[in-house]
Amino acid sequence: MTWRLECCLCGQTVGARSLVYVLDDEWLRLNTHAIGRLACSHCVATRAFDCGVDTAGHVPPPQPVGSDHGCDSWHHLPDHGLVKAMVWEYPESAVRQGAREYLEFAVEKRRLPLVLMARANRVLTGEPGLVEEFTVVLDREPTHAEVDALCRSHPRCHIDGRRVSEVTVLSQGSQALTRMLHDLRRLGFAPAPLTLSDRLR
Ligand SMILES: [Zn+2]
Ligand SMILES: [Zn+2]
Repeated sequence: MTWRLECCLCGQTVGARSLVYVLDDEWLRLNTHAIGRLACSHCVATRAFDCGVDTAGHVPPPQPVGSDHGCDSWHHLPDHGLVKAMVWEYPESAVRQGAREYLEFAVEKRRLPLVLMARANRVLTGEPGLVEEFTVVLDREPTHAEVDALCRSHPRCHIDGRRVSEVTVLSQGSQALTRMLHDLRRLGFAPAPLTLSDRLR
């Protein structure tokens, strides 16, 4: 399987063992030619920027900045990892950056975890396929014990470590979803109405 991912900024092919950085909306605002969100480490270093205070149009970074000095470009990188993992996590960008063939191969061979497979499948085909992915937004953060209990009784649920008040439910038919909602209410949550997860990846 020929592997290929172009950096969204410079267009260079990213090596299979390289680190890839995920650009947030501020990076995209300043680099309107970017074709996706996955950038090579060279670009992230050479195109680094300081935000300055009160810059017009500045998009706040995903995580609040602790110091009084405002943020710089490194605060605007919500995620990074080895190229293959980032292609799986951000299939929408990956497809635009040349990795469609690899993703199709990975889905066909069922090489991806189920939650990522559902996401990749939706990007590749525009359809949810057999597995649908729902995001359930909770009215409070579950405790560790509650997360453990939910994961044990719902092997098809995925709890995003970065945003614990959201639970992703993978559902083949409506059964898995109905059972999850039932358990959430039993634990005292008031889950918000369901939306198909459509985060731009
Ligand atoms: Zn680059
Ligand atoms: Zn900033």
